[in-house]
Amino acid sequence: MTIPTSTRAAVLTEHRAPLLLQELPLPATIEPGAALVRITCSTLCGTDIEIWEGKMTFPGMLPMVLGHEMVGEVVAVGEGTRDAIGREITVGARIGWSESTCGECFGCTVLRQPVACSRRGYGFLQRSDVPPFATAGLSEYAYVVPGAAKLLLPDEVKDTWASMAGCAAKTVLRAFERAGGVRPGSRVVVQGSGALGIFATAVARISGAGKVITVGAPAERLAVARRFGADAVVDIADGSESTVNQVLELTGGEGADLVIDLAGAPSVGPEAIGMAAQQGTVVIVGSTGPTGDPITLSAIMGKELTLVGSLNGDVSDYYRAIEFFRAFADRFAWDELFSEPCGLAEASDRIADMSTLGEIKAVIDPRLP
Ligand SMILES: [Zn+2]
Ligand SMILES: [Zn+2]
Repeated sequence: MTIPTSTRAAVLTEHRAPLLLQELPLPATIEPGAALVRITCSTLCGTDIEIWEGKMTFPGMLPMVLGHEMVGEVVAVGEGTRDAIGREITVGARIGWSESTCGECFGCTVLRQPVACSRRGYGFLQRSDVPPFATAGLSEYAYVVPGAAKLLLPDEVKDTWASMAGCAAKTVLRAFERAGGVRPGSRVVVQGSGALGIFATAVARISGAGKVITVGAPAERLAVARRFGADAVVDIADGSESTVNQVLELTGGEGADLVIDLAGAPSVGPEAIGMAAQQGTVVIVGSTGPTGDPITLSAIMGKELTLVGSLNGDVSDYYRAIEFFRAFADRFAWDELFSEPCGLAEASDRIADMSTLGEIKAVIDPRLP
């Protein structure tokens, strides 16, 4: 096949405005370690929605292409391009990829934490009017830069699952790892009933929690959480009793051994502290906003709580997320998390729909008309 020199992409030029279908140039040569892929699936993540809404913004970020959970088929490779565990990537291979890291900053070398890389390159946080132009998911073709951690994907893991592994699923798995895992039989509260909260509910169940409680809204989402392993749910829209009191009642007055924030609302911090059990652990992973309600330090001291932050994930978490879907393919009806795929022209509608909680995870297949 001839290598394309440009690609159709859905470009965000203004927050809250429909994406514009534009033709973007593609790099004329594929650098060593890089690849050009045809995107077969792109799933939308909460961050894409926040950027579209303008909740997450900074000067000079637009125009850009959204989408950072994606899978593609390689149509051209640079010399010596390998995946993160050393396997050769050839034309026709099915790959997914994680953010690029530089490998030489303090975060990369001294901390040895790719998430702390000072030059971490999210495909979707790059302007679409400067080279290499098309690096994100809402594009027919994408350029996968040499520094991006790539993975050859196992056939058993569907495109939608592998895409979700690229951000949402790896973020949740890292949060559980940062928490030190789930003690068998323990009580776990998941704050949030979006894609991450529902996935975390399933992970807690699979990891051996004795009781999983999902806190969120609306009721339809909580019903999904039940199907993904929640023993009990707390509807935050039901103001009859405080969220904390409801969790305490559901845990015999003792609270939860592990509380994971995948909601990010301002009240999440004090509620997490309030519903944590003596010697419990609280993981903050959904709080991307600048502020939250004040938390009571004496409660952290008195309960001897462990507070942990967790930031997205790296290729290790990504690999484990892929393997998680492979290992537990039959455990839950994962496909229930995803909407029917649509083409780039419908991406704007799907983003607006996710913005009003109309669907859990939109799926874009840029090959569709
Ligand atoms: Zn770095
Ligand atoms: Zn994301």
